[in-house]
Amino acid sequence: MAKNKKLKIIPLGGLDEIGKNMTVLEYGNEIILVDCGMAFPDDDMPGVDIVLNDITYLEKNYQKIQGIFLTHGHEDHIGGLPYFLKAINVPVYGTRLTLGLVEHKLKEHNLLSRSKLIRTKPGTVVAVGQNFKVEFIHTNHSVADSVALAIKTPVGVVIHMGDFKIDTTPIVGDVIDLARLGQLGKEGVLALMSDSTNVERPGYAMSERTVGAKFEQIFANCNKRIIVATFASNVHRVQQIIDAAVKYNRKVAVSGRSMENIVEISIMLGYIKVPEGVLIPIDNIKRYNPNQIVIITTGSQGEPMSALTRMAFSDHKKVEITDKDLIILSATPIPGNEKSVSNIVNELFKIGAEVIYKSLAEVHVSGHACQEELKLILSLVKPKYFIPVHGEHRHLVLHKQLAESVGIPAKNSFVLENGSVIELDKTSAKITGTVQAGKILVDGLGVGDVGNVVLRDRKHLAEDGLIIVVVTISRSERKLMSSPDIISRGFVYVREAENLIENVKYVAEDAINQCLRRKNCDWTTMKNALKNSVSRYIYEKTERDPMILPIIEEI
Ligand SMILES: [Zn+2]
Ligand SMILES: [Zn+2]
Repeated sequence: MAKNKKLKIIPLGGLDEIGKNMTVLEYGNEIILVDCGMAFPDDDMPGVDIVLNDITYLEKNYQKIQGIFLTHGHEDHIGGLPYFLKAINVPVYGTRLTLGLVEHKLKEHNLLSRSKLIRTKPGTVVAVGQNFKVEFIHTNHSVADSVALAIKTPVGVVIHMGDFKIDTTPIVGDVIDLARLGQLGKEGVLALMSDSTNVERPGYAMSERTVGAKFEQIFANCNKRIIVATFASNVHRVQQIIDAAVKYNRKVAVSGRSMENIVEISIMLGYIKVPEGVLIPIDNIKRYNPNQIVIITTGSQGEPMSALTRMAFSDHKKVEITDKDLIILSATPIPGNEKSVSNIVNELFKIGAEVIYKSLAEVHVSGHACQEELKLILSLVKPKYFIPVHGEHRHLVLHKQLAESVGIPAKNSFVLENGSVIELDKTSAKITGTVQAGKILVDGLGVGDVGNVVLRDRKHLAEDGLIIVVVTISRSERKLMSSPDIISRGFVYVREAENLIENVKYVAEDAINQCLRRKNCDWTTMKNALKNSVSRYIYEKTERDPMILPIIEEI
C-alpha cells in the first residue's frame, strides 16, 4: 500500500566529519542521492591519497537509483563521483559551473563519454521516477553556482541547504533566494538538512565583497610583485584579485594545476571576467616590472606539492620568491593544515618576503553561514523535523541546540551518524536502524585495497622502521648455510650500530639452530621463532619495536 510507505533519509557521509558528503533519499523502489564527495586523509592514514564513502548499500540497491543531485562544485561534494560512476553509472544533475568542474574530473578518469550529465539552473524543477521532484534554489557560497535543493516527496518537502551563507552583496549573481525558502516554509516543509560548519561562530559571515576592498587597499600601496594564494574553486575571490589588478594596472598570471584548470573553465563559462590583455602566461612575467605583476596561485593550505610551496622552496620552474615579493594567503587553514601553513609562512619569512597571513578577516571570509544566518534559515523554512549535517559531532549537537532556540523542539531534531536510517511520513520521524557506511581509502590506483592491516603496517614502519633477517638453510642437512644477513631501514644507521647488528645475527642464528634441532620444525614455526627472538633482543637493547621481516631461503 503506497499510503503506508515512508521516506528514508540515510546520510552515508558528511556527519562527524567535514568531508565526503553524501545523502540517500529513498521512497519505495526509488532512491535519489544528494552529492557524492570525498575527504582528505587524516594523519593516521600514511600514504593514502583520498577517502571515499563505503557505498555497499547503494551497490545492493543500484536498480533503485534515479540520479545524483549536486549542490556545488567543492571536492567534499563532487570528489567521489569518478569512483562512484565507475561502479554505478546513473545520471548526474547540477548547475553549469558545478558540472563544468565535474566534466573536467571525469575527463581525467576517462569517464566523460559514458556519463550522463544533466545541466539545470536555479528555479528549475527536475522530476525523476514516480516519487521525487527536485527544485534547485540559488544560494551564496565560496564557489559560484551553488544551490540548495527542495525535494518534493510523497510524504512532504525535504530541503537540503548544501553549503551556504547569506551574502547580501555578492560578487556575481543574486543574494541567496530567501524568498523561495520562505515561501516553501509557508507551504510546509517536512524536514530540513542544514550546513553546520560555522555553528560555533556568532553573528553573520562577512560578505565576500569586504575582501575586495582590502585587496584594493593593499594593491594601491604596493610597489612589489604580488602573489596571492587562495582556493582554486573560489572564483569570486579570484575575480576580486583580477579586479584589483586591473584597477592598479597589473597583469595577472596563474600558477598551479587546479588553479589553471578552474580559472580556464570559469572564464570559458563566463564566471570570471578578465579584460583583454590582462591575463598573461606565467612564462612572460619576466617581461614586466615586479610592480606590474600579480600571480594567483594554489597552496594556501601549505600543501607540499602546491605551486606556492614549490615557489618558496626554489623548486618552481617559472617563479622564485625573493625578498622583493608580497605574498597574501587568502584562506583560513582547514583544521589539520595549521602546521603546514605555518611552515610555509616561516619559509617565506626566511626568504625575507613580506607576508600577509594573520589578518585573515580582511583577506579572507568564510563561505559558511554563522549562527544568525542559520537561525534565519530555520525560521524561514520552519521545518517539522531538523537534521543538522556537514559538521563534526559537536557542530551537529550545537546546531540542534540552535534550532531549539528558534522553536524547533529537541525531540524533532536528529543528530545522526553516517549510515543512520531515519524514516519519515507526514506526521512522524524515527531513527529505525543503520546501513553499512564507512571509509574507503584510495592510494594511487588502488581503491579500497588499503585496509586496517595495511595502515597498521604503514604506521609501524613510519614509527619504528624495518629489520629484514635473511637466513639460508639446507633442509637436507638441517643446518644454517651461512651467517644471517641483516638489512635495516629507518631503524638505526647501521654503521653506527655495528655491534647491535652483529648481535642480532647471533640471536637469529641461535633461534634457527634451536628450531632445526627440533624434529618437526616447519617454516611458520621457524619464521615466528626468528621474529620473536630478534624482536625481544632489540627491544631489550633499544626499547624500540621495529617491524621484523624474516626471509628464509632453502637450498
Ligand atoms: Zn562542503
Ligand atoms: Zn562547499
